[in-house]
Amino acid sequence: MQLNFSGLRALVTGAGKGIGRETAKALLALGARVVAVSRTSADLVSLSRECPGVEPVCVDLGDWEATERALGGVGPVDLLVNNAAVVLQQPFLEVTKEAFDRSFNVNLRSVFQVSQIAARSMKARGVPGSIVNVSSMVSHVSFPNLSTYSSTKGAMTMLTKAMALELGPHKIRVNSVNPTVVLTAMGKSVTQDQEFTLRLKERHPLRKFAEVEDVVNSILFLLGDCSASTTGSGVMVDCGYLAS
Ligand code: NAP
Repeated sequence: MQLNFSGLRALVTGAGKGIGRETAKALLALGARVVAVSRTSADLVSLSRECPGVEPVCVDLGDWEATERALGGVGPVDLLVNNAAVVLQQPFLEVTKEAFDRSFNVNLRSVFQVSQIAARSMKARGVPGSIVNVSSMVSHVSFPNLSTYSSTKGAMTMLTKAMALELGPHKIRVNSVNPTVVLTAMGKSVTQDQEFTLRLKERHPLRKFAEVEDVVNSILFLLGDCSASTTGSGVMVDCGYLAS
């Protein structure tokens, strides 16, 4: 697979840690200019040190007005990775309004907002674009204590299709990647119960969880011309879980 993003400007949300950070680094290595958006300033400082040239933007994407101030004038964007998310675990009967609102604001509403900003820029310039929404296999299957999180990702499946439908005529493709557990900070937070985690791993046909690199590679594939005829789709990075 030949990937070259020279001459293109990419925006990656949640670029401070985990999958977003590695995606930003990979895009930079493949020639893109990269806008790295995240919440914790120290993460962006260390990313900028590691990757000089990255354009850091520190903002809480759960705050609509702050996001508008931070990204409203971000300039041309050709590639967008909507990756930032939170997982707030609660049993369904104990889900709070605060956790529900926070989860939907960060995981879904910000995808509307940042995608609008990016897609308007693509449309106004008359250039093609590619948007990848980082979803999860829990958009398709459920796990205890994840009703809010998995609802945000289930909604993301429809949003991906709706965006693909409306943005396709402007040559803007929209797809998602849907990983199983990846042992980032987030992945570790949902695999605290060792017995549950071992049983979960064994239920995957490949008997493993996904690596960050596997997810990044699928994101890069969907961003690039190798997937030029793919839009409105989701790529499972689930070690076969949904086949079992
Ligand atoms: P992570 O290690 O927790 O990193 C998430 C990044 O997003 C962090 O840099 C975080 O910054 C940032 N972020 C979170 N809320 C934000 C906000 N309100 N505003 C701006 N930035 C914010 O998570 P990850 O595992 O890399 O997850 C990346 C994506 O993969 C998410 O969409 C997640 O749902 C999805 N995913 C993960 C797994 C998994 O097992 N890890 C599985 C399936 C799907 P702060 O730390 O400063 O808040």
